Amino acid sequence: MLKIILILLSFSILTCCHSQNITDTNTTRAIYFPAPEPQSIKWLYPTYLGPETPMDPRPDELLATPINLDCPGVQIIEWRPSVQFPTTSGPSPKAIQALNEICKLVFDNFYLFAQQNSLTIKHNNQFVWYLCLMPGSAKYGGREPRNLNDHFGRFYARPPLDENVYYAGWTAHQRHKIFMKNDVLDETGEINPITLTVFAHELFHALSWYYGIFHDPEVDETLAQEFTQYLGLGV
Ligand SMILES: [Zn+2]
Repeated sequence: MLKIILILLSFSILTCCHSQNITDTNTTRAIYFPAPEPQSIKWLYPTYLGPETPMDPRPDELLATPINLDCPGVQIIEWRPSVQFPTTSGPSPKAIQALNEICKLVFDNFYLFAQQNSLTIKHNNQFVWYLCLMPGSAKYGGREPRNLNDHFGRFYARPPLDENVYYAGWTAHQRHKIFMKNDVLDETGEINPITLTVFAHELFHALSWYYGIFHDPEVDETLAQEFTQYLGLGV
């Protein structure tokens, strides 16, 4: 059972996350922080998303061909395998299928969950969100430059965690992106249920923000955890 600890750092809430400890077992926490100042970096993103930030993938980090999941508007644009586990941590039909199943599960249940919890969906525009997978935990090289726990480079604007705690996922609202660890399959090639829970958790944050449910970070974190439990995925 994962434990979520909420730390509220700012009233200016633009991102949120899901993290876990070094052993990928017992501790997760969610942290919120203001968006970093826009940088003068011009990469490939649609202008409606606003100025790019160093969190965004560089052109050389993007997939040559984005992967559209079998759920509305969710596209994988970055999926970098870990050097340590090159054959299991990158894109594969099995891993993509696992993400597809979770994405469909989320969409099949999100509206019902919202209704049952009296959450108001404020519009029905097409959901558009991007997914970036990269090395996350220690043994996957998560602290290496450009990876999910690169606190001094790509994710410098995010508060660093304790030494033994690693981010497993991070949803950047204004950038329409989920950044998460790449081990959809573990090193033996089996599906990693923790990573799938992280995906569902972050996707809830994305949907909540996109459809105007989000109003309070602590409430949203609780809802995300309740939602993954509702799906039978735990927290
Ligand atoms: Zn969260």
